[in-house]
Amino acid sequence: MIFGQDHLLGIEPLHPDEIRSLLDLADRYAEQNRSGQRPDPVLAGLTQINMFFENSTRTQASFELAGKRLGADVMNMGVATSSVKKGETLIDTALTLNAMRPDLLVVRHGSSGAVNLLASKVNCAVLNAGDGRHEHPTQALLDALTIRRAKGRLHRLTVAICGDIAHSRVARSNIHLLGKMENRVRLIGPPTLLPPGAVDWGVEVFDDMAEGLAGADVVMMLRLQKERMDGGFIPSEREYFHRFGLDAEKLAKARDDAIVMHPGPMNRGVEIDGTIADDINRSVIQEQVEMGVAVRMAAMDLLARNLKARNTPRRVMV
Ligand code: ASP
Repeated sequence: MIFGQDHLLGIEPLHPDEIRSLLDLADRYAEQNRSGQRPDPVLAGLTQINMFFENSTRTQASFELAGKRLGADVMNMGVATSSVKKGETLIDTALTLNAMRPDLLVVRHGSSGAVNLLASKVNCAVLNAGDGRHEHPTQALLDALTIRRAKGRLHRLTVAICGDIAHSRVARSNIHLLGKMENRVRLIGPPTLLPPGAVDWGVEVFDDMAEGLAGADVVMMLRLQKERMDGGFIPSEREYFHRFGLDAEKLAKARDDAIVMHPGPMNRGVEIDGTIADDINRSVIQEQVEMGVAVRMAAMDLLARNLKARNTPRRVMV
């Protein structure tokens, strides 16, 4: 098993072999979860704190379930009830938490880079559950596992990532991961929602769905991240759906066996037609959620192994 990381902060620092190891382990957890078999409690005696400074439904629930399945003591720190609302700085919050001696800290934050900063101040393993528009590594890993299971491989595939790329940490983590595994990545969206410089990322860029989807094996739709928009990025949601929303006509341009993905939460009728999202012959959206639990079990298992192997005395690093 190759996985040399102390934290899971992003996909960018990972070696392709580390990604493969994590996915192999997650695959085994996925099968165990399906069979109803109880996994070994490899996190027993460890404390996991989930700290979500931004709202989350599926990611937080998924991390909580993953930790509990593996026997960890799991605590959710609600931001609404935390001292952050009283003006405490991120670093002070981190040091307070560190003093409670957690082993695994799962953090989501609205600012890009906040989770990396926090990881440098604590001495437990930190997992990034999404930071601003930077990275969302467990999302890309669960997407990769879903693709690998559906397509039988995770290389030499044409993957179209469509919609609001500019505000999406999901897109960034997926671009890193799919590129490392030697896939062809296409970004499709209106120029206002494509980050400047995207052409330098080793991807192809399109502003027309029919062109970008032609021959794609995987169609990954993204949510319009209205909470990160401060101006008029699209003329109207109706117009956006007309040009970039995934419907049967646009999907027909992709390969006949192309799968449809969405990280959730979905805006039905804005970026995706509800009928396509619910079509069990094309959509793997529910499977993505299922793989999320398995991937998070694998990530926490591997980080806990490294934590135990290091077995360093705990220090607060300021
Ligand atoms: N749930 C994903 C995220 O937290 C995608 C989204 O919110 O659109 O980034």
